[in-house]
Amino acid sequence: DRSAAQEALTRLTVDVPDWPEPGVTFKDITPVLADHHAFSAVIDALAAAGRDDHGNVAVDKVVGMEARGFILAAPVALALGIGFVPVRKAGKLPRAAHAVSYSLEYGEATLEVHRDAIAPGERVLLVDDVLATGGTVVATRELVERCGGVATGVAVLMELGFLDPRKVTGDLPVSTLLTI
Ligand code: AMP
Repeated sequence: DRSAAQEALTRLTVDVPDWPEPGVTFKDITPVLADHHAFSAVIDALAAAGRDDHGNVAVDKVVGMEARGFILAAPVALALGIGFVPVRKAGKLPRAAHAVSYSLEYGEATLEVHRDAIAPGERVLLVDDVLATGGTVVATRELVERCGGVATGVAVLMELGFLDPRKVTGDLPVSTLLTI
């Protein structure tokens, strides 16, 4: 259940100070992934964001953002019985893609999705490990909308509340297991 997932996440996530740069505390979730019970519990908890109040699946696709989002979004899609779509960094996708650029603390990043990966009208759940400034989620939502889809929410393991990501994610429902 959800509290078991939260407990496992709290116990197993490793805070790495000053990585990848001074002042950033990196949330290393690899020990969560390496523990079958913990991994399974967090996937079930993330998948709950794709169901309605009656437990019925309420989305058509699960999108994961490169790279840790892939590891979480793919099993969430399987748990819900729907398809998985990767959102990749620029230049990795082999076919016609939509691209959205957004600003990082230093410089710019570009994310891409295959144009035919999401059909018009499809409801899409975004999945990632950490919601920090929210820039990645906003860019991914824009990619979903370029395909004609509708982002219905984002599910993450952790939200860095002190960075105020909900200021930029706006009306997009956020489901998080932990708020730091
Ligand atoms: P943002 O676009 O600022 O919300 O950053 C989110 C992306 O960066 C996610 O894909 C995270 O995997 C990664 N990220 C940002 N901050 C951290 C952190 N402190 N620890 C681990 N991953 C992070």
